[in-house]
Amino acid sequence: MPEVTRDLLIVGAGAAGLTAALTAAEHGARVLMLTKGHAPDSSSWHAQGGIAGAVGDDDTATLHAVDTERAGRDLCRPSAVRVLTEEGPERVRDLIALGVPFDPELSLEGGHSRRRVSSVDGAATGWAVTSVLGRRAASSELIATSEATNVLALWVSGGRCLGVVTPDGPIAARATILAMGGAAALWARTTNPEGQIGDAIAIGFAAGAAVADLEFMQFHPTVLAGSRLLLTEALRGEGATLLDEKGERFVDELAPRDEVARAMVRKGSVRLDLRDVDRARFPGLMAEIEKAGFNPAIEPIPVSPAAHYTIGGVVTDLIGRTDIAGLYAAGESAATGVHGANRLASNSLLECLVFGRRAALAALDEPAAPSRPEAPPPAPPARVASAELREQVWRQAGVMRDPADLTDLARSPDPVAALVARFALARSESRGVHYRIDAPTTNQTLEGHFVLRPGQELTLEHWS
Ligand SMILES: Cc1cc2nc3c(=O)[nH]c(=O)nc-3n(C[C@H](O)[C@H](O)[C@H](O)COP(=O)(O)OP(=O)(O)OC[C@H]3O[C@@H](n4cnc5c(N)ncnc54)[C@H](O)[C@@H]3O)c2cc1C
Repeated sequence: MPEVTRDLLIVGAGAAGLTAALTAAEHGARVLMLTKGHAPDSSSWHAQGGIAGAVGDDDTATLHAVDTERAGRDLCRPSAVRVLTEEGPERVRDLIALGVPFDPELSLEGGHSRRRVSSVDGAATGWAVTSVLGRRAASSELIATSEATNVLALWVSGGRCLGVVTPDGPIAARATILAMGGAAALWARTTNPEGQIGDAIAIGFAAGAAVADLEFMQFHPTVLAGSRLLLTEALRGEGATLLDEKGERFVDELAPRDEVARAMVRKGSVRLDLRDVDRARFPGLMAEIEKAGFNPAIEPIPVSPAAHYTIGGVVTDLIGRTDIAGLYAAGESAATGVHGANRLASNSLLECLVFGRRAALAALDEPAAPSRPEAPPPAPPARVASAELREQVWRQAGVMRDPADLTDLARSPDPVAALVARFALARSESRGVHYRIDAPTTNQTLEGHFVLRPGQELTLEHWS
């Protein structure tokens, strides 16, 4: 057995991983953080608009909870929403105390009934937050980070997680937290960094953990064609319009994301007209658009929807515990049920802060590893998402889904692609971000979370 030199192993260095690491170190734990790539390879680093949290004078956790549940289309787990919205303001204040330079005004985003989104320079929130947290972690003697370390499997012995398996061998710890982000880069059109292909789902499920809600992939409507550049909803809030091939508007630009995305897919080719927007308010984005070869002052720019946020993941309770003792999950990797069938804008960074902290505190209570464990498994080959696979997932599990396509995708050799298809087939209705062309309405009998445990059938569970 490799020597256990760390109390806590955290896979992932985005907002969830960094929050967990700093929380554990605050309590004197020795932490090792592993990441597949480098800092800019996390979705957290790229997050734009901000972090929701009822910190305004006219706001309450209850109002935030009502908005979250409305967006989630009758599927949010109420206890998780309570935790998120009640603990959220304190976590935002923690970031202020650490020096995150939030803008003086709170922003209003789609689906929120109050101004409650804290942002940095309008659209640089993720970079600012991960930079501050990352610097803090780097200066802690209790936190070590190993970059470019691809975690390939979990090491489970006697039903207990003892650590992870990497190409360089096993790493042991008293507890392990999966903070590995989502799976949106498994789709050809995505806003996520390319490594975000659902490794937490793949290794968690392979090791025996339950997964849930994998049919719910949130698509962002306005992503610059041919790129991963997300064009924030705030642009549409400031007057940007969506135009079809004839140059005519065809949808309420401020309708929910899933409705706008479907209207765009039905049209085929769509452009975003930024000519009437005060473009000086979005200097970074305008520079990126121009770098990509477009001039938004002169002509509308081509956009299309892209896979953006993974609502499902490894099933956890409200303190991040999975089905496997000693294994936790937090952030986009976890399925707490907090987002229901549709995530409210800016609730995901908040989820990383709230549940990342909770998971770390719970993981600190794990007992020491057994003295005579089973040997770790050999390192399996790294999972790779080829361009063909990503095109197939986009085509067969995209914005509008056909059961024949899903049946085909369910036979994919890629475990996550196949799981997404199985879940999307089981949910024979349309709800939130999941749209089935053969069942375009909501079916009340499917009000629940689809859960799959290795070796069992999919079951519909009701989470309170
Ligand atoms: C362009 C963009 C804009 C967004 N804007 C917002 C916003 O304004 N507000 C908001 O709330 N949310 C936003 N989101 C969503 C939000 O950023 C994410 O949900 C959140 O940051 C996820 O954080 P995380 O810590 O769970 O995962 P991530 O930040 O994605 O971090 C995952 C980590 O896991 C590591 N990893 C993955 N697989 C492996 C492996 N096999 N081995 C080792 N390491 C691995 C990665 O290298 C990375 O360090 C946005 C997302 C994107 C892509």
